[in-house]
Amino acid sequence: MASKHAKQLRVGVEIAESATRLTATTEPNVSGLRWQTRLAAPPSPEIATAEIASLIARVTHEIVATHSEIESNVAAVGIAVGGQVDAEQGIVLALPQAVSWTDFPLVRHLTEHLSVPVQMDSATNAAGLAEYHLGAARAAAHMLYIHLGRGITSAYIEHSQLLHGAQGTAGALGHLLVRVDGPRCSCGAHGHLEPIASAQSVVRRMIGQAVDHESSHTTMLQKTGGRAEAITVAQIVELSESGEPVAQAIVNDALDALSLALAHAVTLLAPDTIVIGGPFALIGEPFLMPLRARVQKLCQPVTRVPELVGAALEPRAAMIGAYLLAEAITTSLG
Ligand SMILES: [Zn+2]
Repeated sequence: MASKHAKQLRVGVEIAESATRLTATTEPNVSGLRWQTRLAAPPSPEIATAEIASLIARVTHEIVATHSEIESNVAAVGIAVGGQVDAEQGIVLALPQAVSWTDFPLVRHLTEHLSVPVQMDSATNAAGLAEYHLGAARAAAHMLYIHLGRGITSAYIEHSQLLHGAQGTAGALGHLLVRVDGPRCSCGAHGHLEPIASAQSVVRRMIGQAVDHESSHTTMLQKTGGRAEAITVAQIVELSESGEPVAQAIVNDALDALSLALAHAVTLLAPDTIVIGGPFALIGEPFLMPLRARVQKLCQPVTRVPELVGAALEPRAAMIGAYLLAEAITTSLG
């Protein structure tokens, strides 16, 4: 039986990469303990529900065995989903490359399985929450968080409140029109931000365009130890800084499009801080400095220019945010 001073056990779980990677934590620290389940192929949401339940059972067993001050029953579970969700209804709207998840009521299924309160949000909103409370935007009151990864998504938090929009679909920044005759987006439309500035697009463009430029291809092979297809955005930014013309054109194109999107977002929302998350955050100033200069130029003279910083909790921000969602449940339950 738990003592009256026992600490509540709350578990945050991140569902990533079409649910083939499930990661859990019981504390809001970047260096804290974490547990992981890896699956070979994207599971159905029913199988994922069972996998999450067994992951939480494993976490609980190990934590309780080593921490006598912690209650043996889970008080609340927070879930961060790497796709589109309706947080209010507890529904996964879409998960990349996992069609069977479309409109799946994950919160209801998990609540039935686990018999504990569950709160779910998108990985981007969860990561934004973590950066707002514990990371790069701790001093902010109005934060815009942008995640540049496979796609481009954003979270807006004002005085600790996440903005969800109708059906929870606010923040699809990757589908903002930035160039009328621009390349084709994953949604089928042309001119959106995503095919120019997502981390995945920058890598794909570099691989695609370097093939037609022999010296670029050679430089790329040298940079990657002969594995051009494994090039990272950090390496592409390094090539750009060293004057490699193809990398420079691609990075400048991404910076131009991203700064335009950010300037629109700043005019609309007036954040005091913008946090850049995803692989670009790990690059730091070589990416942030030219982005900051462009945003400043586009925003002045009418709009107040916000601070623009890199995320502090990558790559664990979404998992930590999931923990914070669980913590919020127990706080509201009193
Ligand atoms: Zn689009």
